[in-house]
Amino acid sequence: MNYQCKIERIYETEVLVIGGGPAGFGAAVAAARNGAKTMLIEQASVLGGMSTSGLVGPFMTCYDNDCTEQLVKGVFDELCLRAEAMGGAIHPSKVSGMNTYNSYYLASHEHVTPYLSETLAVLMDEMVTEAGVKVLFNTRLADVIAKDGKIEHVIVLMKEGLAAIKADCYIDCTGDGDVAVGAGVPTWKGDKETGVMQPTTLFFEVGNIDREPFIAELEANKDRLDDHMGNAYSWRVQEGKKTGEWKIDKNEIGMYESPIPGRFKVNTTRMSFVDATNTEHITAAMMEGRKQIQDILAFMRKNVPGCEKVELIQVAPALGVRETRHIEGKYELTTEDVLNRAIFDDAVCTFAYALDVHLSEGGGVIFTCVDRYYTIPYRCMLPVNCDNLLVAGRCICGSSEAAASYRVMPACVALGQAAGTAAAIAVREQITPENVPIDELKRTLVEQGAVIKDS
Ligand SMILES: Cc1cc2nc3c(=O)[nH]c(=O)nc-3n(C[C@H](O)[C@H](O)[C@H](O)COP(=O)(O)OP(=O)(O)OC[C@H]3O[C@@H](n4cnc5c(N)ncnc54)[C@H](O)[C@@H]3O)c2cc1C
Repeated sequence: MNYQCKIERIYETEVLVIGGGPAGFGAAVAAARNGAKTMLIEQASVLGGMSTSGLVGPFMTCYDNDCTEQLVKGVFDELCLRAEAMGGAIHPSKVSGMNTYNSYYLASHEHVTPYLSETLAVLMDEMVTEAGVKVLFNTRLADVIAKDGKIEHVIVLMKEGLAAIKADCYIDCTGDGDVAVGAGVPTWKGDKETGVMQPTTLFFEVGNIDREPFIAELEANKDRLDDHMGNAYSWRVQEGKKTGEWKIDKNEIGMYESPIPGRFKVNTTRMSFVDATNTEHITAAMMEGRKQIQDILAFMRKNVPGCEKVELIQVAPALGVRETRHIEGKYELTTEDVLNRAIFDDAVCTFAYALDVHLSEGGGVIFTCVDRYYTIPYRCMLPVNCDNLLVAGRCICGSSEAAASYRVMPACVALGQAAGTAAAIAVREQITPENVPIDELKRTLVEQGAVIKDS
């Protein structure tokens, strides 16, 4: 079926960021602050992606694996500090040990950042506006017009109908590599060999928990929580499996307290073998997730101390998607790089969260801590086959296992900051992102707060 139409609404900009999640937020702020005329389009009505629409949280650790040094700063740290000043977050430097903010996990879970998604939403609005970014909500990428390895413009769907946006440089922060695919960049989904993607989860938030008995049971079971295998309330889940009361394919009840005492984000539903680039799959997973939430609430009321009167505060409007596409880029970050402290000449950020592979069957995770930290090279954000595109966030070029570390939000904001800064330099110097002088990029990032380890 062919369809033609004349597009009347045309925007022009220097940098166009597609997708306003953690990566897109970091990219837009950095591109604008570094002098580029910047636009950001987002299909939802809020910035933050998984951190707001997905109700995901807390920000996973931004420290090294020894818990001695904060490795993600820059735009990410500014976000944490400003959210804290608004009463909507606790700075990661103040969160240590086993506690309700990290669901009593120790490994790779110290120094998380608990936050309120509502605070992030308004703060991100504020920060992009201050930076001078033009933001369009309810605007979805519809098509990419590329020729000879270069994007000429993109077509977007707005309330008014279709529009075109033409930019010098594009940054794909859709999480799914939607722009890259449209531009003809090769991608793969999930594990390269099997194509299996990590399971999806629909987050929800609860309140009205009696914290004293709730915490007392976690404290009493501290010794079996230490290795990240006997997870929070897993003993209650085991009992529930025997009686048939627990029906979810997950071995724990992951509850992460927010800065408001007694209000928790719950990471427990699980929908496996979902391809979140497929609309029918997303629809079915959302419906199944909402059903699972009712089952989990009923289970909690009956079986979890302190949760007898637990109330549902809200269900995420967007499905929690851990993994879809990975783009083919100039370098593929490997599992070994992540585990063995890889240091790259073109590193743009440093990170240390564990490989956190959620299994599609059996309800568990394979969790492997890294050797203190690793770096991520700029080349992972440079796709093959497209000269004026950068990719930031969970879909950069890396193995499925490697992504199980850098997909978490502090790294995505840092990658976004790096991509936005590079795009601004490319536009200013009228060069392609690939030709951005790496020394200048690294110097600018470090001047603006990034931590880039060279040994
Ligand atoms: C269940 C679950 C638990 C997690 N737990 C944690 C945790 O505890 N801590 C942590 O730090 N991280 C956690 N993560 C990881 C983290 O939330 C995501 O990997 C991270 O948000 C990815 O950032 P991103 O910017 O790449 O993509 P997203 O956050 O997915 O943002 C992408 C944005 O692009 C928009 N978009 C997509 N396609 C289009 C399009 N075609 N047109 C316009 N806009 C578009 C989306 O609406 C969205 O706003 C978890 C993830 C999941 C799913």
